[in-house]
Amino acid sequence: MVLGVDVGGTKVAVAAVEGVTATHAAEHPTVTVSTDALLDGVEHVVRGVIAEAGDPDAIGVGVPSQIEFETGRVETSVNIPLTGVPLREELSRRFGIPVFVDNDANCAALAEAHIVGETHLVMLTLGTGVGGGAVIDGRTFRGAHGLGAELGHMAINPDGPPCPGNCPNRGCLEAYCSGQALERDATELATDKPDSALAGRLGPDGKLSGRELVAAAEAGDPDALLLMENFARMLGIGIANYVNVFEPSRLAIGGGLSRASHLFFDRAVQEAGARALPALWKRVSVALAEGGADAGVIGAGLLAAMELAHGRDTELPKATTTEGIE
Ligand SMILES: [Zn+2]
Repeated sequence: MVLGVDVGGTKVAVAAVEGVTATHAAEHPTVTVSTDALLDGVEHVVRGVIAEAGDPDAIGVGVPSQIEFETGRVETSVNIPLTGVPLREELSRRFGIPVFVDNDANCAALAEAHIVGETHLVMLTLGTGVGGGAVIDGRTFRGAHGLGAELGHMAINPDGPPCPGNCPNRGCLEAYCSGQALERDATELATDKPDSALAGRLGPDGKLSGRELVAAAEAGDPDALLLMENFARMLGIGIANYVNVFEPSRLAIGGGLSRASHLFFDRAVQEAGARALPALWKRVSVALAEGGADAGVIGAGLLAAMELAHGRDTELPKATTTEGIE
């Protein structure tokens, strides 16, 4: 048995993980006042789960961060105070067992691959930003040092808007297909058209929230539908690029924004199908992620189980992967 830990901007979720099943789940608000307080909070939830579930063999941790995988050192993070922190070392010291740390989107992709039983899978998590992960031959692709695959920072327009992420580029997928991008465009359009229905949805802070935009699109508001059309088109362009590069058997769309998929999914698939290389496109399925709210925890647990197995035998036994899938 291993533990999976999912550290998000608002909550820390922990569970015992076996295969793709999570039990003894617990969560706690993320403490963001300082690095030490954040780590103490994580330790508190983990110790609570250990008290119920028993001692794990290893702990996997997913964080919204760029991580040097071998050392488990966090380079930089989104929304939580983890920058330049040797997270793997720190948590191993606290718990006295092996700890493995990975980017949360990589964990989500790993979970999705095992949940749907695919060995070649690309996943995009559409939320405040755009996260991405690629599973190749059953294993997470991380690049040379573990900092890949930042799929949200592929530029799809050289002269596009500045990327809202911690990124110097313009026109990244994240600059079009993230919650931040939607709010930026909706606010701009509503401000430019003060007599529009969309303008009536501007909040007291002068901003139009993603939630209001979705509500307006569902009500058939033409301005909101135009923004969603642009979102879907850009997402489709991104999907076509990832299909051409990775040739996955499945490309999954997850994250909080996927709850509004009825406003963009079909149109994005149509756009991707018109752009991807036909031989690759006819062999891929594009689908909403099947993993639920606990996918992050499951992915972190799978990470720990796989790394533990990987450390024992230099090559991952295929049988373990298959069991995980079933
Ligand atoms: Zn970017």
